[in-house]
Amino acid sequence: MGEGVADGQMNYMRVGDEPFHPKLRSHSSRVPCEVGKKPLFCVAVKRQRRAMDAPRDTSMTESPKHNQSLTYWIAGAIVAAIAVALTAPEFAVHFEIGGELFLRALKMIVVPLVFTSVMCGVLGLGDVRQLGRPGATAVGYYLCTTVLAVVIGLIVVNVIRPGVGTVDPAVLEKFAQGAELPNGQTEAPGMGVVLENLALMLITDNLFAAAADTQLLPIIVFTIAIGALMTTMMDRVRSIATLVTEANDLLLRFVLALMKLAPIGIFCLVTARFGKAHADGRFFEEISQIGWYFAAVIIGLAIHGFIVLPLIYYVVTKKNPYHYMGAMSQALLTAFSTASSSATLPVTLECAESAGVSKRSTEFVIPLGATINMDGTALYEAAAAIFIAQAIGFDLTLSDQLIVAVTATLAAIGAAGIPEAGLVTMLIVLGAVGLPLEYLGLILAVDWLLDRFRTAVNVLGDSIGAAVVGTTIPDAEPTTPT
Ligand code: ASP
Repeated sequence: MGEGVADGQMNYMRVGDEPFHPKLRSHSSRVPCEVGKKPLFCVAVKRQRRAMDAPRDTSMTESPKHNQSLTYWIAGAIVAAIAVALTAPEFAVHFEIGGELFLRALKMIVVPLVFTSVMCGVLGLGDVRQLGRPGATAVGYYLCTTVLAVVIGLIVVNVIRPGVGTVDPAVLEKFAQGAELPNGQTEAPGMGVVLENLALMLITDNLFAAAADTQLLPIIVFTIAIGALMTTMMDRVRSIATLVTEANDLLLRFVLALMKLAPIGIFCLVTARFGKAHADGRFFEEISQIGWYFAAVIIGLAIHGFIVLPLIYYVVTKKNPYHYMGAMSQALLTAFSTASSSATLPVTLECAESAGVSKRSTEFVIPLGATINMDGTALYEAAAAIFIAQAIGFDLTLSDQLIVAVTATLAAIGAAGIPEAGLVTMLIVLGAVGLPLEYLGLILAVDWLLDRFRTAVNVLGDSIGAAVVGTTIPDAEPTTPT
């Protein structure tokens, strides 16, 4: 979709309703697509012309009203799920299978969709050299907003001081005896190892293994490289280009169809998880122990999600950020329900395109963001480390807090978009300032719930990033290398 949410007005045209890349359409009027000498964009133009000429399939096009009603259904499903979980937790856990099926269906399309979407993004730019500016803007945006999130986390936790005198010494004693660490890890990796791992995350020695593990970053790197080469090979790869763009449209249609089942899937996911927590019987007791920590993280996430990110959106696009957030609400609710930004990725892509964000931006900014841009996770990691230090009376100097800020940023970049991944990378932050790792147990009990809120903020950061970066991608026609 080319044009944006005009001052919050959502454009509900769907994939396939208009030419794939508006700039390709304009190019087509000027440059003849000669037989036997077809640049890639000519292929796309022809395909788009065919799509425009074809009888319009209205079965999948939805009115704003319908789309909005789906959002209400999803929100209602979450409220109903929590109500069921709180009143009948034993019954609620039986819905787990329904939730798992929905989650699997979402995850099933993540890898192919990342491949087709990023490839379309590169092909749409026409020349990989055009990737430089939006690419740098995207990475710059990610870094700046992640650092902002960390700073907010640090300020909130230093002002509220949730760990000072609030945690029962008996509870601290229990964790001091040693607690099981996530992933069975016994020690925190050093900074050199962290940086090495971040670099290794970029390239895989086995693309299929990466795909099987939903490691998106090497897939994105591979796709950008292949897409870049394709733009230099022109007519020799036009059938691959057509196939990939059509597959991308098809996968997005699949997401649309899947979202019709979202209220049921999300109800099952949420009721089973909340029911499990409630059935354990200790949840309310544990949350009351560290309630101030919980509140501090939620306040920090709210400041970042409702004030900072919307402000950035407004300053850059001059549009109403809350309308845009409304347009993204299905993705945000899905993120809350699945606690996974990777699993939410198909919905995020679909919502951003429906909301009118430049296709050229969404196609590679959102997949990259879902992988490395985690504002909510960064904020939580910084806040949690300081909370633990406060609770055990560990004195953190200003330079220690600076180390927390840097490591929380790196840890968030390295965290996978899966449930509670942030808890694992927290070890990096704790280890960097010498905090005893076993006290991580202190925040374990509420982590699954906080995870949902921070995942929603992660997805919001990606969505706003796509809109912001979208403004920097010129509408100029692609240049095809010779
Ligand atoms: N669950 C988060 C996500 O998928 C990562 C985390 O903070 O644990 O974005």
